[in-house]
Amino acid sequence: MTDDQTPRDWLETRRARLAQTVLAPEARIVGQVARLADGIAEVTGLPDTGLGALLRCENGAYAFAHSLDRDLIDAVLLDDTTDVAVGDHVTDTGDVMRVPVGAALLGRVVDPLGRPLDGGPAPETHDLWPIERPAPEIIDRDLVSAPLETGVLAVDSLFALGRGQRELIVGDRSTGKTSLAVDAIINQKDTDVVCVYVAVGQRASAVERVVEAVRDNGALDRCIFVVGGAAAAPGLQWIAPFAGMTMAEYFRDNGQDALIVIDDLTRHAATHRELALLTREPPGREAYPGDIFYLHARLLERAAKLASDLGGGSLTALPIAETDAGNLSAYIPTNLISITDGQIVLNSHLFSANHRPAVDVGLSVSRVGGKAQKPALRAVSGRVRLDYAQFQELEMFTRFGGLPNTRVKAQIARGERIRALLSQPRYSGLRLADQVALLAALADGALDTLPVTSLPDLRTRLPRWLDDTAAGLVAQIDDSGALPDALRRSLVAAVAALARQISPAGTTSP
Ligand code: ATP
Ligand code: MG
Repeated sequence: MTDDQTPRDWLETRRARLAQTVLAPEARIVGQVARLADGIAEVTGLPDTGLGALLRCENGAYAFAHSLDRDLIDAVLLDDTTDVAVGDHVTDTGDVMRVPVGAALLGRVVDPLGRPLDGGPAPETHDLWPIERPAPEIIDRDLVSAPLETGVLAVDSLFALGRGQRELIVGDRSTGKTSLAVDAIINQKDTDVVCVYVAVGQRASAVERVVEAVRDNGALDRCIFVVGGAAAAPGLQWIAPFAGMTMAEYFRDNGQDALIVIDDLTRHAATHRELALLTREPPGREAYPGDIFYLHARLLERAAKLASDLGGGSLTALPIAETDAGNLSAYIPTNLISITDGQIVLNSHLFSANHRPAVDVGLSVSRVGGKAQKPALRAVSGRVRLDYAQFQELEMFTRFGGLPNTRVKAQIARGERIRALLSQPRYSGLRLADQVALLAALADGALDTLPVTSLPDLRTRLPRWLDDTAAGLVAQIDDSGALPDALRRSLVAAVAALARQISPAGTTSP
């Protein structure tokens, strides 16, 4: 009652409102939690609910329909499960799971439902998109034609990636998988590519290290972190890659280029298996349910290069998978290898021998990116892979006491230089011009007089050296992407000058 109302007025307005109220039964389907265990609620009494539907429990907690039985639903809880109890009412929201999308998420760390985890305010987004969206049709796609530069010489020169490609990063525990993907993210800081890093089942400290590395290297405001950490509910971990994919698709569908890193899908598969076993789905190979291939295929199919009439945006995916003792033929790695357009295999022996990134040149492949590689880089990297593979064989042979002749010695010397150049510390991405200059100098023998141990020094100093002494050449390569003979000669001369400065005596390496 307000001050200027008499009690009679007040009563009259109430009466009038009551008279207008329609008193009729309202039909609402309400289900009930019949059983509750391990983050899964068995819900009865919701006969019309479909797969993936978003359900709401009495206390406000959300769950999604993970599998449907004849008269019950196995719902996976997304929120804190402690205050949901058997007998609680459950309603179907009539919607599916959605996440906020938009540029406001850039630079933020959020959970798979878009809620902030970095202590900041909720991101000011205007759209909510479903986490499961159909992959673009074939007719809506275009060929992968532009390169996605990672700044890692071993990847860009030998296994070039294209925008819209899906490339698996696979290797044993602690072989630098995350580091390689983070390098790719950091290298986008001066490009127009937007990045999404999805952590599935990672320890909080590991995620923190990634966020820190991206921040310290100045790429934070181009990246969204979607974290379904080890401590999060299995339901949240399960939806994390899908949620991240939707956030990245927003940029793809707006004509931009996006990159998504999913770290990692082996853990995601384990979460899927856990949920499937708890909901009594029949286990198949390695106890994974039968739909595990479909799960990851429908996720990764969403990475694509769109046709120009749809804006020409692209979404590149770098899923990560972990192997056990280098076993690439285990179930999940083989599945992922067959879904993606290639794989970068990291080898634990190379890693422990300090050849990092530990890219296994023999087992890695990029099936589409080579066509997108800039002509300048293609011109100088053609022989590197063959030379390096031959060197690895010869090295093995000479280790067992083979007596090398002069030709073999030269091949070994060249191989050692390739290996020294391909070993690259973290967070030290090279530009296109640096990579072209290094490989051109290598091919033309300009590095043969330099001791192998000086090569890391040369690689570190080269970007500044080129900027100071040959900025015109760098601009020329960046603009045209091509390498005419004159340009190549000038570049090699610039590298040779730096080599002379580093090692004036020109001592030949042992
Ligand atoms: P996990 O299996 O635990 O996820 P991972 O395969 O993702 O491990 P990283 O965490 O990326 O591996 O790397 C493990 C360690 O190797 C890092 O802490 C880092 O110190 C080192 N490392 C990785 N890449 C390089 C590199 N290029 N140069 C030097 N050190 C590296
Ligand atoms: Mg990792």
